[in-house]
Amino acid sequence: MNEKATYIVMLGPPGAGKGTQAKIIAEELGLVHVSTGDLFRENLSNETELGRLAASFMNKGELVPDDVTIAMVEERLSRPDCEKGAVMDGFPRTPAQAEAFDALLEKIGGKVDMVPFITVPNQVLVERLSGRWVSRSGRVYHALYNPPIVKWVDDFDGTDLYQREDDKPETVVHRIEVYYEQTSPLIEYYQNAGTLLEIDGTQPIDRVTEEILKGAKA
Ligand code: ADP
Ligand code: AMP
Repeated sequence: MNEKATYIVMLGPPGAGKGTQAKIIAEELGLVHVSTGDLFRENLSNETELGRLAASFMNKGELVPDDVTIAMVEERLSRPDCEKGAVMDGFPRTPAQAEAFDALLEKIGGKVDMVPFITVPNQVLVERLSGRWVSRSGRVYHALYNPPIVKWVDDFDGTDLYQREDDKPETVVHRIEVYYEQTSPLIEYYQNAGTLLEIDGTQPIDRVTEEILKGAKA
């Protein structure tokens, strides 16, 4: 039992700022940032079978099947660095994943403590995703809204930044549709659980962080 562990679930459409915020608040709260998208991409660059399977869905903007995703999360959360809990970024993304996650946390003596739900209008999402530059370590920049000091270079480790394959305009629009169809039911799920904290994601990055941290410490 690890009763003191904290689990935060970042909710919101693609481009809302979940990854940006998850990275900051995980550091702030001493938790691990678990991004299922990053885990799939890591598998892809390591050329694993899981990576190849995931890519066949990711490149089309579709979700990777629930059973594969849930098994990957279960394995990740069982590692020692997650003992104090995690900030979940991009998981759960379907009602089946949310239920499986609750069951998994119950098994390890935890629960979902807070769900920051970041809202951003669709038009802004498309602009954000088409200008997004990411680092291999999961740090996120934007060509205009959050540029690195040197173009295409990570401020922290000097590695090259890249544009994600699924940030092409045609895939972006489909990913937003998939969010509304398959992930948005989780808004009500966590509202009913009393853990949802709605945040206006059009505010500057540091304002959004402040609101999440205020919620976490309340
Ligand atoms: P998500 O993980 O929800 O898909 P990201 O955190 O990757 O979203 O952010 C998407 C893009 O929007 C990135 O390029 C990021 O730099 C930018 N971004 C994130 N938060 C803000 C914000 N509050 N204002 C402006 N741009 C933002
Ligand atoms: P993200 O990095 O969160 O934007 O995710 C990129 C892609 O990875 C998604 O479009 C999906 O194809 C896949 N993915 C990430 N997380 C999940 C999840 N929880 N369930 C299913 N597919 C996922």
